[in-house]
Amino acid sequence: MLMDHLSQLPGRSTRVIVNLAQLRRNFDLFLKEKPAGLKFLSVVKDNGYGHGMVQIAMEALKKGASYLGVVTVDEALELREAGITAPILLFGERTAEEMGICFEKNLTCSINSKEAFTLAKKLSSQRNQKLTIHLKINTGMNRYGLDWSECLEVVNAAACCDTLFLEGIYSHFAMSDELDKSFAQLQIERFQSVLNQITNQGIHIPLRHICNSGGYLDLPQAHFDMVRIGILPLGVYPSSVCRRVPGLAPVMELHSRIAALREIQPGEFVGYGLRYQAQTPRKIAVLPIGYGDGFPRVRNEGSAIVRSHRAPVVGGIAMDAMMVDVTDIPGISVGDEVVLVGKSNGEEISIHDLAALRKSVSYDAMTSIRSRIPRVYSSET
Ligand SMILES: *Cc1c(COP(=O)(O)O)cnc(C)c1O
Repeated sequence: MLMDHLSQLPGRSTRVIVNLAQLRRNFDLFLKEKPAGLKFLSVVKDNGYGHGMVQIAMEALKKGASYLGVVTVDEALELREAGITAPILLFGERTAEEMGICFEKNLTCSINSKEAFTLAKKLSSQRNQKLTIHLKINTGMNRYGLDWSECLEVVNAAACCDTLFLEGIYSHFAMSDELDKSFAQLQIERFQSVLNQITNQGIHIPLRHICNSGGYLDLPQAHFDMVRIGILPLGVYPSSVCRRVPGLAPVMELHSRIAALREIQPGEFVGYGLRYQAQTPRKIAVLPIGYGDGFPRVRNEGSAIVRSHRAPVVGGIAMDAMMVDVTDIPGISVGDEVVLVGKSNGEEISIHDLAALRKSVSYDAMTSIRSRIPRVYSSET
């Protein structure tokens, strides 16, 4: 999301702070331990997991990303409009109309089926223009892709088609970041058997890839030519059990400021549905963020950090506001900085904590922070 219009407006006190210095450090840590020669594709779909697609893409390219990965044509066009000329791989399925745009904007298409291959071949000969494709192989996730056991016909046809450039072949793990790697291992074997058959036929495909962040971390035997990393450079691990990279830290913080303060007496309530009732005199701070901004719609659960102290949520989260109890925190005033995700002295609220409130995963928590909240880019080290 481009922020040009916001730079002219007074900033909203609730904001996502994207620490570009930390992002660069994370890329450096990754580059330092990455096997030499292993290429990487930076996955920046869904607004760069909520961090800002163009900004993350630019940093990834500066750090040597060979490719960018997105899902919708709109996302790819936004990257092109930002002046990015790097190769872009589109995941997912394309309509004929969308495939037409891929020719115009030099976007690499995933080919998931025989039908998609036939369409790509037809369009490329009609237009007399070459299209770069990556064949997607289904090795067990059963989402997109040509089945591993019956994909050779299409692989051969694609390799022979002179209007298509068969640059890549890939698959995707259903379970790469958990302790049990047996299914991932099965997927690797299936993918490898496809690759072996291709090689035996004398076909060379330069970019073979299967790893996401979890696979990159824990399945080095499956790195092949390129890895597709999304969450890792953002400083968040795909799971609690995958390998750690020392020094890696989150790039995203969510901050706000106290918009109002009030003192309430015992017996008084807070918020819709009267979900909280004070037992003793309480001091309540109102924060200008709610579920309309993507904060989980919880009740009397979760907390904020104010002046390095925990302030528990009281009552329910409203569309545009939430209330926290600041009774025991000294020196509170309106305008005080509030951390909803991030660190403040010894206290920390992680994106995983926010995900737990949603009963979901970090990926969902990050991408759920709406565009209504401005992204502010900081390069502080
Ligand atoms: C989102 C996605 C990735 C990135 O996954 P991370 O776990 O964020 O690294 C890789 N490949 C495909 C096909 C994806 O859709």
